[in-house]
Amino acid sequence: MKFNKLLSLIFAFLFVSCSNFYSMEDFALVEKIDAHYHIYSAESISMEQAKKDNFKLLAINTNSKGCERVVEAHQWLKALKTKFPSDFEFTTTFCLDGWDKPGWQENTISWIDQCIADGAISVKVWKNIGMEFRDKDSILIMIDDPKFDAIFAHLVEKGIPLVGHLGEPKACWQPIEKMQANNNKNYYKNNPQYHMYLHPDYPSYEEQMDARDRMLGKNPDLVFIGCHLASLEWSVDVLAEWLDRFPNAAVDMAARMGDLFYQTRDDHKKVHDFFIKYQDRILYGTDITENGGDKDAFQKRMHETWFRDWEYLVSNHKMTSKLIDGEFQGLKLPKEVVDKIYAANTKKWYKSF
Ligand SMILES: [Zn+2]
Repeated sequence: MKFNKLLSLIFAFLFVSCSNFYSMEDFALVEKIDAHYHIYSAESISMEQAKKDNFKLLAINTNSKGCERVVEAHQWLKALKTKFPSDFEFTTTFCLDGWDKPGWQENTISWIDQCIADGAISVKVWKNIGMEFRDKDSILIMIDDPKFDAIFAHLVEKGIPLVGHLGEPKACWQPIEKMQANNNKNYYKNNPQYHMYLHPDYPSYEEQMDARDRMLGKNPDLVFIGCHLASLEWSVDVLAEWLDRFPNAAVDMAARMGDLFYQTRDDHKKVHDFFIKYQDRILYGTDITENGGDKDAFQKRMHETWFRDWEYLVSNHKMTSKLIDGEFQGLKLPKEVVDKIYAANTKKWYKSF
């Protein structure tokens, strides 16, 4: 490193440490983790951009396209961990194939153990539990099904956290015009098959949340990270109550910035105070998904998403976003809170990085 560059880095560091708040310029200087990321590609281009923006990535393997893909993605993620040992972590997940046959629990536990031995740090459960998978009698399998008890007991015994995207945003059960965030409006307009408001034969939002909470009630020692603000994105008040009720739970913010912007627009102080009070329980994440495709456009989108969220969390700028209508103001959280949300909480809750 050239002497001048070293000197300017030292000055930058000193400047960063003097103020109680970060500036926009500090973005690349501060260590950050995107704790909810997806990579479905053998040749990842995400790590290159992550390095530039001083991010580490937690890639979450999700059972969204069948069991073979879970196994294939596990191999990609394992290889990435070998390539980037200190800047990359990944989770595993499991399949429900063979649910009705004897041995499903034993097979699932040995798959999880193998994945943990390969370097995975956590196990993911997805919304298809509760919304898609059915048993041999065509009954939807809910997350509090007793058959999962042995799996979750095993995670507790091994100290492995469970990361869960269960249910959907509340918007999924609302008419389009009642939804808070524009991304939800567009998504459900274009995907009516997933818009539960149109499918009252499926479990309600409350039934999904209750099943998740009964599961947590049965497993008080299970460390649980609720993806997407634990599907309680629509109200920081309700989310606060939930965090109070389940002290072993934390949440990631992935793909729910619209709901945070919306609530910030309407009551800035309330959202700011929520972040201060629950500063040890909130993990930064985006849900950005690498599937291959145009490298430059993808990396640009990564950077823009990360930079927008940095502006929201560290500055008091007046902001607009296509995610909501109207203007909202950044939260300008103190440095120690920003450091927790961006890195320390992920290290603590996932015991990694
Ligand atoms: Zn995700």
